[in-house]
Amino acid sequence: MDNKDVILLARENIRALVPYSTARDEYQGELGILLDANESPFGADGLNRYPSRSLRESLASKIAALKGVSRETLFLGNGSDETIDLCYRVFCRPGVDNAVMIAPSYGMYSVCAGINDVECRQVQLNPDFSLPVDALLDATDEYSKLMFICSPNNPTGNAFPREEILRLLDSFRGIVVLDEAYVDFSDSGSMASLLSEYPNLIILQTLSKAYGMAGFRIGMALADPGIIRLFDKVMYPYNIGTDTLRLALRRIDPAKVTAQVESIKSEKKKLVDTLESFKCVERVFPSDANFLLVRVSDPEGLYKHLLSDGIIVRNRSGVKGCEGTLRLTVGTPEENERLHRSIFSYENPGETLSPSITGFARSARKERVTRETKVVVEVDLDGNGETMVSTGLRFFDHMLEQIPHHSGISLKVLAEGDLDVDEHHTMEDVAITLGDTLLEALGDRMGIERYGFALPMDECDAIVTMDLGGRIDFKWDVNFTREYVGDTPTEMFKHFFQSLSSALKCNLHISAKGENNHHLAEAVFKAFARALGAAVRRDLFKFDIPSSKGVL
Ligand code: PMP
Repeated sequence: MDNKDVILLARENIRALVPYSTARDEYQGELGILLDANESPFGADGLNRYPSRSLRESLASKIAALKGVSRETLFLGNGSDETIDLCYRVFCRPGVDNAVMIAPSYGMYSVCAGINDVECRQVQLNPDFSLPVDALLDATDEYSKLMFICSPNNPTGNAFPREEILRLLDSFRGIVVLDEAYVDFSDSGSMASLLSEYPNLIILQTLSKAYGMAGFRIGMALADPGIIRLFDKVMYPYNIGTDTLRLALRRIDPAKVTAQVESIKSEKKKLVDTLESFKCVERVFPSDANFLLVRVSDPEGLYKHLLSDGIIVRNRSGVKGCEGTLRLTVGTPEENERLHRSIFSYENPGETLSPSITGFARSARKERVTRETKVVVEVDLDGNGETMVSTGLRFFDHMLEQIPHHSGISLKVLAEGDLDVDEHHTMEDVAITLGDTLLEALGDRMGIERYGFALPMDECDAIVTMDLGGRIDFKWDVNFTREYVGDTPTEMFKHFFQSLSSALKCNLHISAKGENNHHLAEAVFKAFARALGAAVRRDLFKFDIPSSKGVL
């Protein structure tokens, strides 16, 4: 099919339509006094005006460049839901034409067919969710204008092989609408590079998934420029608001999207392992998207249990082809952790899961054995300040106990060292193991606050600043006047924090002044704990690499 044949598929009235035009579309000069659109003249932020064409153009050009397509092949919609509806309104005569689509798939294809009074022919996927290419082609007739294929498919999660989609494009005498809402999560990649070869291809994408911008309601259609011009004619005037356009222009950040997609993919892998370990989970279907379709023994029961724990998933067990399934979106590590715990409690009533068992917890355990010492450290960054410390040095234990107490981190430190020789090895090895364990628990550091600080405490001024960004710099300005506090040598505190800073790969600057040596040491440990607690805290609403560089 060539471009002209494809345009002839559009409804005659749409091809002939004279679109609504605004005076501002007709006026090419610099914007002057706007008395054309019956807007209010009052408003300093420009929101009293309809969205400007140039703002829309800037966003469209930015997205086109990002997708590697030319501007005239891109339409910006109010969510990709708008573009689904536009496909029907442009191509299908109500009550006459039909659309063929796979099932199960995204519900809006059939809803929009219903709204537009277009017959919708659903072709069931094969039982293994593969594409029934022949059955799809067999379902078409001369009135079939559209064929909806979603890849990766919602809710099954699988992407379809390119060759099969190419077969449909080659054989179907209508438009193949390929919905790539989840393509950024898939290794198979977009088929956008085929647009010039296949004028009967419309690709739908969205900022709602990998781009993390569902609240913006921005989606797009990529297609032959002739089709895009038809979409432009039919859309409602100014379909995306000024604030949304402005914010979207600022917010789109491909490096961030890549990092977040990688994080979601790695969480998905962990989630698959977790889910497969439960008896109630019969099958986790392979997924190229950011969700998992899971067949469970009692979908209603598990669904209600999760709901009672405040976890909302999609019950797909009533959908033909998805019997017995729930669809679970991959969340943040904390959310996945909560999901894990909830399924565990569903399967093991009355029991709770220890934090260190789950793959999502920011917890770690490390053992360090040398000729001089044996040290075991366990931390849970999202713990509740639980503590167990025993190093053989009672004052040192007292100091280490300040860390969980004042940071909220759960901490266990068990050390046996050659204290009969000196305290050095034990304190140094505890510092190294503690640093190693904290580093491992931090993982990819997504969402952490990164910096910490503390204010003066007690009669001592102790200030600890810390940056967990991966660089090591240590400063120490604390003078003890006694050689020992209790059984612990004061000179070792500097060495302890220096070793910890190297192992944890952090900048750590400590200064403290005070008279009482016990207080001075305690103030330093407390301030350190406060700084650590603040630095490792995660903001679930800003789940991001905490650096303007996008990497740590
Ligand atoms: N296509 C698919 C396959 C979807 O799953 C969804 C939303 N869940 C959409 C399109 C709609 O996306 P948008 O937010 O861009 O309207």
